[in-house]
Amino acid sequence: MLSYRHAFHAGNHADVLKHIVLVLTLEYYQRKDKPFWYIDTHAGVGLYHLNSSEALKTREFTHGIQNLWSASNTPDALHLYLNLIRQLNAQPTLEHYPGSPWIAANVLRKTDQLRLFELHPTDFTALENNLGYDKRIQISKQDGLKGLLGLLPPITRRAVTLIDPSYELKTDYADVISTLIKAHQRFATGTYMLWYPVIERQRIKQMIHALLQSKIAGILQIEYCPLADNAGIGMTGSGLFVINPPWLLAGQMQSALPWINQQMANSTGHFTVTYITPEKTT
Ligand code: SAM
Repeated sequence: MLSYRHAFHAGNHADVLKHIVLVLTLEYYQRKDKPFWYIDTHAGVGLYHLNSSEALKTREFTHGIQNLWSASNTPDALHLYLNLIRQLNAQPTLEHYPGSPWIAANVLRKTDQLRLFELHPTDFTALENNLGYDKRIQISKQDGLKGLLGLLPPITRRAVTLIDPSYELKTDYADVISTLIKAHQRFATGTYMLWYPVIERQRIKQMIHALLQSKIAGILQIEYCPLADNAGIGMTGSGLFVINPPWLLAGQMQSALPWINQQMANSTGHFTVTYITPEKTT
């Protein structure tokens, strides 16, 4: 039974962090001529209206993208991401926010391809309506974790995967880590981004512990929390574990996060960009 709907949360601080990391990673992958796949295990609907009753009910975007999209003096690392948001919205009103599939579809080249999974029947149909016209895109109404494993290794031998579940079930935390480890065993050179919410710090420690046991080298953790940790009282921040991150990513996020923190939380938030497992030595 799926009750989570991303329309209530589109454009919040967690979306902003995740989508900045996504854009930087996809941008980096285009430095090589060779095509690649973008795999999105939990795709959502692809495009959100910020004047919908869902978005207006929580107004989460007012603590996220609204604080960033029209700011000046933006760090270089954010240019492409913010240009995409501006492309969707005529200033001065912020009315639309893109989901990860829309962002990828607008960053990727003609030769790259997208494989999207969305299990919620209504959101699956909306995703098809929003992006189904694009010949590079295949959309499956299937469990994204199983679907991911079925795609690996990709025929392109290059792929960027975003794993972005709603963590509705407590078992999701363990399931995503075991899927990530299996995915890495099948295709070790791909880039994998696993998003997580900061709700209970202990859960993140458990995820890190499991990743350390996996012996996967060079896992980058990027986390931004506008609020102090406050176990059990909602989401205070979010983060991503990135396996095989582009080598520029850590530096780009280190330089952008103080600015993001200033815009979103008057510099009262906290962030980390750190390798939780040692980088590969060659
Ligand atoms: N990645 C999207 C973005 O950044 O715009 C947001 C995704 S939202 C956090 C999670 C989505 O996963 C929801 O739309 C939900 O319906 C869907 N979902 C939940 N369980 C799923 C599963 N097992 N397989 C695929 N999709 C699932």
